[in-house]
Amino acid sequence: MPRQTRFRSNLSERSEFERASVNTRRPKGLALRRNRIKENDVFAAEYPQSRTRSGKFTKHDAEVVYMALKDYRFDGSKNLNLKKLPTNSSKDKVDKEEILKKTEKNQLRIQELQDRLYADGREGLIIVLQAMDAAGKDSTVKHVMGGVNPQGVDVYSFKQPNSEELAHDFLWRVNKCLPQRGKMAIFNRSYYEDVLVVQVHKLNKTYHMAKRITGQDDRDFFKKRYKQIRNYEEYLYENSYRTVKIFLNVSKEKQKERFLERIDTPAKNWKFSHSDLKERALWDTYHKVYEDVINATATKENPWYVLPADQKWYTRYLVSEAVLKALEEIDPQYPKMPKEERAMLKDCRAQLLKEK
Ligand code: ATP
Ligand code: MG
Repeated sequence: MPRQTRFRSNLSERSEFERASVNTRRPKGLALRRNRIKENDVFAAEYPQSRTRSGKFTKHDAEVVYMALKDYRFDGSKNLNLKKLPTNSSKDKVDKEEILKKTEKNQLRIQELQDRLYADGREGLIIVLQAMDAAGKDSTVKHVMGGVNPQGVDVYSFKQPNSEELAHDFLWRVNKCLPQRGKMAIFNRSYYEDVLVVQVHKLNKTYHMAKRITGQDDRDFFKKRYKQIRNYEEYLYENSYRTVKIFLNVSKEKQKERFLERIDTPAKNWKFSHSDLKERALWDTYHKVYEDVINATATKENPWYVLPADQKWYTRYLVSEAVLKALEEIDPQYPKMPKEERAMLKDCRAQLLKEK
């Protein structure tokens, strides 16, 4: 069974974050209510062109806001060539301070939309995180989803399949982790491992399956798996889910730096395994396979984002943009109360006020 970590928001951290947001990010002169940050205002101040008074997001506006993602989004309309994509922010010429502020605003907006998503319960959101080792999957989850209500988000880590999982089809364990509609699930690694590590190491040859499966050409085997994944994601889409797939694109040099840090810092030793070096040695093969997989499974409804991952502050910003974009497209609404029930609320209100 994949390891599930119910996402925990650290309350003291959160209030500190909220305090910081009050002190540094709020435009002067805006009245602050102590216990209620008006996320909408913060967002609208940053993206004035993006929201109408009703809070609606238009297609054109969405394009303006998500410019930052443009080069990194793959939806089948262009081919991915990993060598041409940056692993850091230098090409985008951004200002770090500004990006940090934008990330915090995005986090607030994600919190608000996640609350609506849960209340609405019409769509589920699956965020798939894939990467080479030490690209920062764990810390991305922690920071981008830091403030969301733990009731609405589940995080699953997909490790090497156990014998029970291997005795089933590869989507069996994934299906058990699907969120109910209204919730978000983050897959830290995913069913994509079944076309990545499995393809790199030819693990398909070790499968205990019928000869017609194990005996076929590897290329045919994986082409079929790509098709199965596309179909599965389409099936989910048609069942009111969205899948956003993110590849954290770290450079080989940065991975080396982070591995050395894991080795040299006792508190980080547990994150390192000597087998990580074996996978590192296969860097080029992994990248080739990643390219192939992403090109075969990027679709308009279920796109891939290939995000620079050498600078965590920039990665977190881009991930927050990708998550936000999906949530804005879902456009969740709080349920409206039927007329009769609203009328009853009036009575209840009166009754409460009459109490001594
Ligand atoms: P970190 O980046 O912190 O090391 P991790 O996600 O790599 O985290 P690990 O426990 O180090 O976590 O590794 C999990 C391993 O499980 C990965 O090497 C991954 O390739 C492997 N794995 C996941 N799914 C499958 C699968 N379906 N078949 C074979 N191996 C898998
Ligand atoms: Mg690992």
